[in-house]
Amino acid sequence: MTDTPPLSDQSIPERAVKKISTEEPPAPARVMAIHAHPDDQEFTVAGTLAKWARAGSEIITVCITRGDAGSNERMGAAMTKDKLARLREEEQRRACRVLGIQQVIFLNYPDGILQPTLDLRRDLTRLIRQYKPDAVVCGDPTVRFYGNSYLNHPDHRAAADAALDAVFPSAGTRFIFPELLAEGLEPHEVKQVFIHGGEKSETLIDIATTIETKIAALREHKSQIGDWDPGEMLRAWAREGSAERGLEYTESFRVMILKE
Ligand SMILES: [Zn+2]
Repeated sequence: MTDTPPLSDQSIPERAVKKISTEEPPAPARVMAIHAHPDDQEFTVAGTLAKWARAGSEIITVCITRGDAGSNERMGAAMTKDKLARLREEEQRRACRVLGIQQVIFLNYPDGILQPTLDLRRDLTRLIRQYKPDAVVCGDPTVRFYGNSYLNHPDHRAAADAALDAVFPSAGTRFIFPELLAEGLEPHEVKQVFIHGGEKSETLIDIATTIETKIAALREHKSQIGDWDPGEMLRAWAREGSAERGLEYTESFRVMILKE
């Protein structure tokens, strides 16, 4: 992509504008979903991942932390950080089984204090070069506020920031992280990035056939949700913006097409 002319506000190349589409794209052949915590993907993009898994996509879930900062209120005297981490890993694996996701990778960064460091970017670059996904799914690192009652978790911003920087330019550029070449990992160019939770989420994925699977997957995170039934909330979220497009339940993304 070194031949791409520099963008400025004044002259956005026509081809860059044309690439933005609101049509539902087909399921990518290989997908890597990258998030900070166990349960992040179930709250946000699990309907899409389940739909793609049913369509035959190979999906790799990357959890950067094991969620060991957990929740304060449910930590009894018998609960330690390590026990909680192992429990949350198991919950994530169960959720992935519900969704039809074959592979779950934990990077074991500490929960609650994640930073978009070069070490994290290198680790994500390594995984992208190893697994060669066509598409990466992640959050939006620019979002600090959701409405007026939720401050986006800094781990979510850090995870998304590192994921996007790993996709571009690190994964596809030979001489960024030459130590990865020494490991035998050649550059890999990701074709599409599906970014959730931000502005310009204009591409809707119809999840009518998988909304119940999404709810079932989130229920596997029992250490986080206890006996609370997340169904009503997830259905309400999935209805937002759907009716205008004639749909019932959707998840929305900003889709970046980096390579045709
Ligand atoms: Zn989270």
